[in-house]
Amino acid sequence: MSDLYVGLIHAPLYALGPGTRVGLWLAGCRRRCPGCLSPDFFDVKPEQKIDPLELAGQILFLAKKMGLKALTVSGGEPFERAENLGILLEKLRGEGIRDVLAYTGFEAAGLLAEFPWVPELVSALVDGPFDLNEPSQEIFRGSRGQKLFIFDPSLDPMYSGWSKQTKRQAQFLLERGRIRILGVPAIGDYEKAFAAADEANDLSV
Ligand code: SF4
Repeated sequence: MSDLYVGLIHAPLYALGPGTRVGLWLAGCRRRCPGCLSPDFFDVKPEQKIDPLELAGQILFLAKKMGLKALTVSGGEPFERAENLGILLEKLRGEGIRDVLAYTGFEAAGLLAEFPWVPELVSALVDGPFDLNEPSQEIFRGSRGQKLFIFDPSLDPMYSGWSKQTKRQAQFLLERGRIRILGVPAIGDYEKAFAAADEANDLSV
């Protein structure tokens, strides 16, 4: 199996990672944490299937068009198809995308033991599943058990600075009549999204 499944590609993304980035959400996650922000990416759909090199082409096109050189990969669980993710990230690195932030529900220790290439191709990793009972107010994580690992020393100051920011950001994307939240929302962001959705419905009547 040499494919990935794409839930969403979006740029510019400024709510998940330092600076402005291309965002990639890979579909497929067997973990199904209660309260997950992306339950629609639990299952994969045939039409989401794509070869990693073809996906790299799409990301590079978007990055070039928007003048971006950084990528955030979330999901879903990007490492459910880790080998194919590696193919994608290696291609992107070769083409100049050298700042990659990845989110995973796996613990970093186990992930690195199984896939030792991760620190070569991933600049920073946020690990661990979301736990509804352990909410965090930090910008980079939804719950306290998740940890940030910075693998690229040259990007350490940027990621460290970002992780200490106290003001969270969220982006709201209108998709086929529904609102999708990008980023790690703060308490109250859901209410804002639902109010925006109501307003959109009113306008469409
Ligand atoms: S691991 Fe992440 S994507 Fe998967 S269910 Fe948990 S929060 Fe959602």
